[in-house]
Amino acid sequence: MVRNTRDVVLLYHSVGGVPDTEYQWDLSVSVFREQIAQLSARYEFVDLETIATTSEPSQKRVAITFDDGFRNVYQNALPVLDEFDASATLFICPAFLDGRNAAQLRRRHDLPSSVRNVIMSTDQLRDVAATDRYSIGNHTLTHPDLATLPDREAIATEVARAKEQLEELTGLSINCFSYPYGSYDDRAASVAAESHNVVVTSEPRLVETGDRPTEIPRLDACLPAATVGFEATDLAARLRRTARKVGTRFV
Ligand SMILES: [Zn+2]
Repeated sequence: MVRNTRDVVLLYHSVGGVPDTEYQWDLSVSVFREQIAQLSARYEFVDLETIATTSEPSQKRVAITFDDGFRNVYQNALPVLDEFDASATLFICPAFLDGRNAAQLRRRHDLPSSVRNVIMSTDQLRDVAATDRYSIGNHTLTHPDLATLPDREAIATEVARAKEQLEELTGLSINCFSYPYGSYDDRAASVAAESHNVVVTSEPRLVETGDRPTEIPRLDACLPAATVGFEATDLAARLRRTARKVGTRFV
């Protein structure tokens, strides 16, 4: 199916390795750099809110996003984006900043017990938030699978407390939300949309004309097909096939 759009939102997690583990959702710095270089040659880098809320048929636009707030993104990925003058949105779970709640963090991300201090510090978060290039988004307080929580109140607490804490830490209004594991149901969708202008999913396809800002799909850049090249018109179909084949669970 040919889509009447050339916009894509990419999802990254970890760049440059997580010590003591072969993290499934990690990209090497060299692969990340190559992807950004390819994108730079073919796409206009724009921020997530711009892609989610405007349409510009004459441009191929890409928005970069990172889920989870890995420290290695701050150390390895942002310098590459600076070099290519690319913007990005970082979705953060504030409960895990500064190495706090480490056991829960490891459970949520299926990391071994030796892994510690892999999430950004508050100072790093503030540093990123202070730039015009980067924006901060809400990824819930503690990264639960929202669709499995017992009631709407539990979902609302995870979403609202994270938003409050991130706004207090950064001094910014937090307008974008990303579902942990890409998992949501009707309750989670309504909670997220009530308090954020833009909500991103992990549905692996291009942005289509008519997509609501509170249901924006993203392609996971860790999937093998993404490294082949960002030929957007057929990339989405290839990624969908790959996702089915490997039974991907987005984090
Ligand atoms: Zn996540």
